[in-house]
Amino acid sequence: MALYVYKFGGTSVGTVDKIQKVADKVKLAHDQGHKIVVVVSAMSGETNRLVDLAEQMQPRSDAREMDVLLSTGEQVTIALLSMALLERGCLARSYTGRQVPIVTDNSFTKARILSVDNTRLEADLEKGRIAVVAGFQGMTEYGCTTTLGRGGSDTTAVAIAASLKADECHIYTDVDGVYTTDPRIEPKARRLDKITFEEMLEMASLGSKVLQIRSVEFAGKYNVALRVLPSFEEGTGTLITYDEESNMEKALISGIAFNRDEAKLTITGVPDLPGIASKILTPIADKNIEVDMIIQNIASDRNTDFTFTVHRNDYEEAFAILQNTCDELGAKEVKGNDKIVKVSIVGVGMRSHAGIASTMFKALADESINIELIATSEIKISVVVYEKYLELAVRTLHAAFELDKVGT
Ligand code: ADP
Ligand code: ASP
Ligand code: MG
Repeated sequence: MALYVYKFGGTSVGTVDKIQKVADKVKLAHDQGHKIVVVVSAMSGETNRLVDLAEQMQPRSDAREMDVLLSTGEQVTIALLSMALLERGCLARSYTGRQVPIVTDNSFTKARILSVDNTRLEADLEKGRIAVVAGFQGMTEYGCTTTLGRGGSDTTAVAIAASLKADECHIYTDVDGVYTTDPRIEPKARRLDKITFEEMLEMASLGSKVLQIRSVEFAGKYNVALRVLPSFEEGTGTLITYDEESNMEKALISGIAFNRDEAKLTITGVPDLPGIASKILTPIADKNIEVDMIIQNIASDRNTDFTFTVHRNDYEEAFAILQNTCDELGAKEVKGNDKIVKVSIVGVGMRSHAGIASTMFKALADESINIELIATSEIKISVVVYEKYLELAVRTLHAAFELDKVGT
């Protein structure tokens, strides 16, 4: 008999009917003799609704109060699911993050888990109880409510699985596993039986929101067996694994990720002197704006053009800061575009193969998709293109690397 942590996402608990179905599924596993901790998200749309409410009160919401508000969504679902389980004759008990307790740092709205106290959960499991834990939330050591960033229930589940040394952590969701790309964009996307932690981490950090990045980091660090599965269908889903050799498909590329939240800024005619990059980027960093891709081009007149990307939400602020820097440095002008996206191909197979970049660039060129920026690492190549080309770029690359077919 095994110890499982099951996590059900927002769409899987989006209606009372679905919560009833989740309760049936959990009861079945429990009746088979397994020890079960369930982690649930808020009902689908609820967290967005709460964000909207906050924005009506205060456009740049206070992060501490935001977390007090956002954490309420998950409190509803733990209670409803526990009621459904009790109704089925199961011993069940709900826990908010602070009741576990799950202690985090104090970075409100994007807190990191510092520790999970599993005393109460273990006691429940010993007594044959099903513990139902609110995902996405914790508390600081001083008792303030925190949330873990959007999609954070995945991380709650993995952290609890790590702490309890669970046999497996199952992330149940509205797709039947991790696909070669988001099936909503490319219907020919194919479910992967397995994907390595390294690839999953890249996919998640490059925009595939099927798993929150931190949940994958956590699972990798604490060796949690992690599986993504469909909530209401049969299926073995996708196993996230360490073992590159178990990549039976030996595919060069495992998947395509994309991120719509991008914006780029360029400052032109900057004098090409030592320290210039730091002069441009330090005021941006001082405002806690994260910079992603950076490109510097030196023109023949010893002036340079400097381009970088930021999150789209930070675009206006970054533009204003850069305009100041432009005036201070006597540079020519600041240009920007917040209608860009990043499309990335990911695969550990890339390490041992040349020519992947040229296949990628040619496929995009054949569709007349202009590449604005490029970034590479050992196992990924990212390009920035205009937003209007997103779907076309993803489908073109999916076809170019034959991701709809099982690799040979
Ligand atoms: P949940 O509410 O269960 O946490 P999410 O919406 O966070 O679900 O994640 C599931 C969604 O992730 C899917 O509906 C799918 O559109 C999207 N997604 C993005 N990239 C992928 C991918 N590579 N494989 C599977 N799903 C993906
Ligand atoms: N309810 C939160 C969100 O919508 C956390 C989660 O679903 O994982 O982001
Ligand atoms: Mg999610």
